[in-house]
Amino acid sequence: MTADAPITQDFLTVPRKMPEGKRNLVGLPRAAFRAALIEAGTPEKQAKMREAQLWQWIYQRGVRDFAAMTNLSKAYRAQLAEDFVIEIPEIVSKQVSADGTRKYLMRIAGGHEVETVYIPEEGRGTLCISSQVGCTLTCSFCHTGTQKLVRNLTAAEIVGQVMAARDDLDDWPKPGEGMGERPRLVSNIVLMGMGEPLYNFENVRDAMKIAMDGEGISLSRRRITLSTSGVVPEIARCAEEIGCLMAVSFHATTDEVRDKLVPINRKWNIATLLEALRAYPRLSNSERITFEYVMLKGVNDSDADARRLLKLIAGIPAKINLIPFNEWPGAPYERSDWSRIEAFADIIYKAGYAAPIRTPRGEDIMAACGQLKSATERAGKRRAEIEAEAGIATP
Ligand code: SAH
Ligand code: SF4
Repeated sequence: MTADAPITQDFLTVPRKMPEGKRNLVGLPRAAFRAALIEAGTPEKQAKMREAQLWQWIYQRGVRDFAAMTNLSKAYRAQLAEDFVIEIPEIVSKQVSADGTRKYLMRIAGGHEVETVYIPEEGRGTLCISSQVGCTLTCSFCHTGTQKLVRNLTAAEIVGQVMAARDDLDDWPKPGEGMGERPRLVSNIVLMGMGEPLYNFENVRDAMKIAMDGEGISLSRRRITLSTSGVVPEIARCAEEIGCLMAVSFHATTDEVRDKLVPINRKWNIATLLEALRAYPRLSNSERITFEYVMLKGVNDSDADARRLLKLIAGIPAKINLIPFNEWPGAPYERSDWSRIEAFADIIYKAGYAAPIRTPRGEDIMAACGQLKSATERAGKRRAEIEAEAGIATP
């Protein structure tokens, strides 16, 4: 990261320089990667080829040890090991739900921990990754929102969650096996774990570019979905610089209610948000925007809400993802009744939109949406702080 990089909230990110002065190759954008090789003595003429070879070892084969990179000369392998490391977050614990969902606790530099969730589905598998330790925002229904922002993740830590999960799932091609010979277990990525990805823009972008690169993790941009609470100025930038699919935590149909649920709405309200979303499909050449809508009993789940929602999103290619509220200890809301969720879905569906109800996955291990919070991070926002922000009266 350079000093003159645009300011988002990356200032909390630790520098990429590793202990003993070795640099981590993971997470470096292509130009920086090549520059690092040249700086460490790789002849300029060879740098492009070496870069391609290394990317394939690191991101397509999952190799972490330079000594195993057999198409490089022994001397060059030794030279690389002098200057570089290939380092990703370490899985410190894993919980497997009755439904097959896996929740990983991953340790990153500084002793911090983040959660990553793998959700196996018929014919595909989605990895839900984190972009920050904690979150600066205070959405009143979200467990992560009760945890202070500790720091932004580096690009290495973001793409590294994908690599660590692939290690655990044994999802790398075997030696001698071609790319794409076996179906991939991690076939989709969603940035829906801890944190607000658009408040860590550069690192999320660099990591996702590696995830989409043909010599990187090689996932199509249509298999990557970034979820934002509505950081409006970064939405167009996301279309232009990342180009993945966009999901938005919409959750309410009036500014009055959205101000309480998603307090960033006070900065960028529904009208401003919708304007940015309207431009997104054209800018990113992508299809539908996913509107996430958490179903909270008696708060945002009426028929009138469903109809208002339809009016608001008219003209935007959209899919509406209804999320039954996932409870967490001390949460100030309840999940809408199932019949209410179905009635809401029905109104949306009859208007011609896909309105899938997201089946809660991994609830038994607290791995469902919005339940993530690293228990080891004691720094918490005070309850009163959150309630005051959200304008919820404490009984
Ligand atoms: N910070 C980003 C991405 C992480 S949250 C964002 O807010 O979009 C991923 C999704 O889970 C968001 O739509 C979020 O609003 C939703 N969510 C948070 N807490 C939840 C809960 N307790 N139950 C159901 N969904 C929740
Ligand atoms: Fe942060 Fe997203 Fe949770 Fe809001 S819903 S507090 S933006 S992680």
